[in-house]
Amino acid sequence: MSLALFEQYESEVRGYIRSFPTTFATSQGAEIWDEDGKRYIDFFAGAGALNYGHNNPIINEAVIKYLQNNGIGHALDMATVAKREFIQTFVNNILKPRKLDYKLQFVGPTGTNAVETALKIARKVKKRTQVMSFTNGFHGMSMGALSITGNSYYHDDNYGVPANTTQVPYHNYLGEKVNTIAYLRKILEDDSSGTELPAAIVMETIQAEGGINVAGDKWLRAMRRICDDFDILLVIDDIQIGNGRSGDFFSFERAGIEADIVTLSKSIGAGHPMSLVLLKPELDKWTPGEHSGTFRGNNLAFVASQTAISHYWSDNTFSLGLKGKSKLVEKIMLGLGKKYAEHINEVRGYGMIWGAEFNDAELASKICRLSFENGLVIETAGSEGQVIKFLGPLIISEALIAEGFDILDKAISTALAA
Ligand SMILES: *Cc1c(COP(=O)(O)O)cnc(C)c1O
Repeated sequence: MSLALFEQYESEVRGYIRSFPTTFATSQGAEIWDEDGKRYIDFFAGAGALNYGHNNPIINEAVIKYLQNNGIGHALDMATVAKREFIQTFVNNILKPRKLDYKLQFVGPTGTNAVETALKIARKVKKRTQVMSFTNGFHGMSMGALSITGNSYYHDDNYGVPANTTQVPYHNYLGEKVNTIAYLRKILEDDSSGTELPAAIVMETIQAEGGINVAGDKWLRAMRRICDDFDILLVIDDIQIGNGRSGDFFSFERAGIEADIVTLSKSIGAGHPMSLVLLKPELDKWTPGEHSGTFRGNNLAFVASQTAISHYWSDNTFSLGLKGKSKLVEKIMLGLGKKYAEHINEVRGYGMIWGAEFNDAELASKICRLSFENGLVIETAGSEGQVIKFLGPLIISEALIAEGFDILDKAISTALAA
């Protein structure tokens, strides 16, 4: 079937439909079928919203049962049984085993909402307007989140967006030899740097949309120290890299640091819209109702999330399995990097997110197009879309990983032969 109806009525802002031009109908795990019955392997996982896979049977069963029992669907921020069970499970399975102490703030169901909330509370608590973020960082599409997002493609001067924010260089932004920590410390120390003391530093520990840039553990610990030394709040945006993507539930666990504020969305709702901000208790300076939002109480998401967290995060089995699986992805990606060394500058990644940076963004986009024709959903990332990104659901089997990468490998050789 053609996409004529979408083209006629849906705004030009359409994005992914252009990369994946078919009409999808059904899905299961790490596979999707379009309405003509063509099968695709999913290396994209809804941009990280489907870590537990499409139509995960355990999650679907709980949601269906909840609906059949007329469980509360929408409840603003009123108390519900589903919300209580979510909170209890999140505290018991996620926070307590990691000795983390956070208050939970439920916000409107998109990631950008969590980021806005983090900016607002950080500025309120610290009584400072300045916020720092990083080159190539991505934090969402609403005004506050955009103001700390690097990529100028999303900016338009008419938005008046970059107010009260400073972008500083991420780890290795200037190559391995330039110490970006020393630079940051210097501009914070120096009264003549022209840089105001920020309320918060907002970062991803692995920049996903920005091209799979992995901050080193030491760099992350140094950033934590800077925040402590200058009384700055560390906000970790774990919207894409949290929920197991890095191999641990939180992406910062590998560095042994804690964030003052954590934003979670995408897979926190286990396939359903949900967004959550974690705050150190002393930062919870909101007055009742001061920050609100109609869809903070998507109880279907609470049921889905509670089910996923009970099932996958009651011990470390899932996390250990992920670490094994990610070794396979790493091995295949590095192999592709070697095989096509003339065209791939670098292969980077961690856990279940990997990227191959091509020296030609056109080529990367052509490879994704060819992959799609041959049954693989895979996207690019990076400032110019030069990085091909593996972001399969965490529950993907090793067989589907191998099959998907086979399609990718063939697409690369076809693109190069043309
Ligand atoms: C996707 C994403 C967001 C924005 O989430 P939306 O649900 O699209 O608003 C923010 N930060 C990071 C790191 C993301 O990957």
